[in-house]
Amino acid sequence: MKTLKSACPLDCWDACSFIVEVKENGDFNVKGDANHPITQGFLCKKGREYLKERVFSSNRIKTPLLKQGESHIPISWEQAISIFAEKIKLTLDNYGPKAIAHYYDSGAGGLLKSLEHRFFNLLGGVTEPIGSLCWAAGLEGTKEDFGTYYCHHPLDMYNSDCIVIWGRNVTETNIHLLPFINEGLKRGKKLVVIDPNETKISEKATLYLKINPATDGFLALALIKKLINLGISQELLKHCNNYDDLVKIVDCYTVEEISEITGIGVNEIDQFAKLYLSGRSTIYLGYGMQRYYNSGNTIRAINSLAYLSGNVGVKGGGVNYADSYVAKNLDINSLTLANSAQPRYFPKPQFAEYLLKEKEPPIKVLYISRANPIVTLPNTNKTLKAFLDIDFVVCCDVVHTDTTKIADLVLPATTSFEEEDLIFTSMWHRYINYVHPVIEPQGQSKPEWMIFQELAKYLDLPNFPQITASQWIEKALKPMEKYNITLEKLKEKSLSPTDQYSLPWQGLKFSTSDGKFNLLNEKILLLEENKDFSYLFMTPHPKLSLHSQFQQHLKLGDYPQIFINPKLAKKEGLKDGDIVIIKSKTGELKGEITLVDWVHRKVLFTYEGRPLSYGNTPNLITDEGLTDIGIGTTMYQTYCKIIKSS
Ligand code: SF4
Repeated sequence: MKTLKSACPLDCWDACSFIVEVKENGDFNVKGDANHPITQGFLCKKGREYLKERVFSSNRIKTPLLKQGESHIPISWEQAISIFAEKIKLTLDNYGPKAIAHYYDSGAGGLLKSLEHRFFNLLGGVTEPIGSLCWAAGLEGTKEDFGTYYCHHPLDMYNSDCIVIWGRNVTETNIHLLPFINEGLKRGKKLVVIDPNETKISEKATLYLKINPATDGFLALALIKKLINLGISQELLKHCNNYDDLVKIVDCYTVEEISEITGIGVNEIDQFAKLYLSGRSTIYLGYGMQRYYNSGNTIRAINSLAYLSGNVGVKGGGVNYADSYVAKNLDINSLTLANSAQPRYFPKPQFAEYLLKEKEPPIKVLYISRANPIVTLPNTNKTLKAFLDIDFVVCCDVVHTDTTKIADLVLPATTSFEEEDLIFTSMWHRYINYVHPVIEPQGQSKPEWMIFQELAKYLDLPNFPQITASQWIEKALKPMEKYNITLEKLKEKSLSPTDQYSLPWQGLKFSTSDGKFNLLNEKILLLEENKDFSYLFMTPHPKLSLHSQFQQHLKLGDYPQIFINPKLAKKEGLKDGDIVIIKSKTGELKGEITLVDWVHRKVLFTYEGRPLSYGNTPNLITDEGLTDIGIGTTMYQTYCKIIKSS
């Protein structure tokens, strides 16, 4: 038996390092890497079992497939490359590169996934999505304030007096943060949890604030108001912009009004202020808060709170949203050639709308990678119509999905156990993991970057060298040599370019154009309540699945479970097990009521990713709006009504 290093490619905060035990017969077991300082040998079920299960799944795509009538027939790679390349050539000749769209998401992580961008940039820049279905609003808000986004080292939490978990369901989505919080609690730290829905982490909280959805920024304003009344130090004022604008924004509300908006009592606001403002406090933000119309300025208000309370650039402080350090210190541009072409951008949350309306030029060829947009984009019916209208859709994936079903050409991708790569997260810690190929690719599957290397060769594209995965990785790793990080060293253990003592924003020097912190200078949007559509539809991911992946491990049933609070049920005359119709301005779906106390009384809660083939997939009704900053989705601000089905 041999052991090989690998890592989890899923869209998760944690980027776990794996140790894979490979037996003589080729079978393998996935274990956590006890030497990884953050993930410390523990894996969730998705990493430990489901990823391997998918390698051998009966749903696995093993050969290229071409649509014929209503089904797909297997074809050879030679045929697949030639059909795809000829479609590209024809489209370039007749319409130019912008008539080709490349839709991608985060279904599988890995440095070499970025090589597909090189191919499309070499075509002259195609049409691409911009923004995200996840974290875009807060990213742009944070960039506006700090210049870029950095997290504190997880161990720095022990320098805090108060830990604030704001809109992050740690036990379902970021389990490796939990041991740090538990240890913090043992050391006497206070824990504040802010979330519209109670979670396992809120049970541990010193103070839990059940906030009204889409009002988090106002809670931050309440504390800023207290800080302003106490007086801000000259040192802090010297290193920031927009102070007068922020004072004007804060002056628009009394604490009582903020209490009314947020649903948090004045006493609770005082308790929060006491915990957060006495001593060092750190905030861990979540991405659920990113799917409201006001998400960008919400995060900016929270950033301003951290700054004005003296919790920026100091040990035990910080606002932990995402971390750009590793990505900035890799030469990813040498892979993507990002500056060599100017793509046309369609906002990701409105990708379907733009496919339908943009005709200069129209999209003729669509390539989809690492994504299942038929299920994950808002407004499923519009997405289906838009995608079915396109002449030629190519989808590359590991297993069949609702999106591969509608594709004209399906290309079989390898899993992370069948390819070489580097995996790291831009969401939290800075450890880079090497991914060793563990088994031979199943069937005829190939790493996606190899498919593009072959397409480039067929099309005679210059500047797509026929080199190995290791050589591509070494190109990107070049700047990491100054941190003593090389491919050879990463094969031995996961490495980080910085240690636990590295502190973002020391000396209050920021990456903004003038080096100062930008305080919030725009009012936070507060949408008026609509009497007919007064509930919010929320679709987070549960522990056992991720977006549309691993749905087979959930109890899917005839209808999606809709979790509602008994108070909402009473108001609407509903009981456990009732079949209901949920209507929004986008559409409607049916669901089965489950009564629970943990969900907010204004929220209709269901899990994301239910396959279209099961019917009543959540995005049939989700909102297609854009966030105030950053081109993010407003899915969690889908206003609904709920009616008992007859
Ligand atoms: S999904 Fe997250 S927690 Fe689970 S194994 Fe992957 S990285 Fe680790």
